[in-house]
Amino acid sequence: MINKNRAVAKILLKWHRKNRRIFPWREKRDSYLVLVAEFFLQRTPANRVAALLPKFIEEFPSPDKLARANPSHLEHIYGSLGLKKRMRWLVESMKIVHQKYGGRIPNKIEDLLLLPGIGEYTASAILCFGFGQSISIVDANVVRVLTRIFGLLETHKAPSVAIKKIAREMLPKTQIVDYNEAILDFAALICKKHPLCDQCPMNGLCDYYRSNFL
Ligand code: SF4
Repeated sequence: MINKNRAVAKILLKWHRKNRRIFPWREKRDSYLVLVAEFFLQRTPANRVAALLPKFIEEFPSPDKLARANPSHLEHIYGSLGLKKRMRWLVESMKIVHQKYGGRIPNKIEDLLLLPGIGEYTASAILCFGFGQSISIVDANVVRVLTRIFGLLETHKAPSVAIKKIAREMLPKTQIVDYNEAILDFAALICKKHPLCDQCPMNGLCDYYRSNFL
């Protein structure tokens, strides 16, 4: 019998081939671009970030350039998006990257977690999408998807040990970036807060579907 984790991952990858969302930070493997995008995405919808990001990168094309930015200038421009504090952290982080890592985004999780404004989810996203590393990415949306498919009783948005374990076990051996994009896109487009179960390619395997519709 095929392991459920592997079967779910396989369906996600297949679904994603036709449903991948296109964003500027997905166009190339660029850790700086991914890091900046993730700072914006913490508070702002992806489509809005997609519209803002090219101009931001044009003004600050590298960590060194951003390290020299005036935080007040950025707070003024992006404060209305609820990003005031994050813009300050972003500049502080790039100062550390400039001084400690020669202007290169570090590629180890322990180094990333020491940068202001970077938590486990953001660090994992940078390592996977920016460096192609094999690491699972688990935000509140991924928690929702896995909780439903595997019939877990999670009450918090933050991932539990059990969810992290399932997420790790689901990672395929290859196509890591595609897989992590797939589960994020699936959470945004199908297994939303109000899930589109009737359109879902996963419903034959999903515990939530079995409990509510069969
Ligand atoms: Fe989510 Fe519904 Fe699909 Fe289950 S069947 S994965 S709850 S959309």
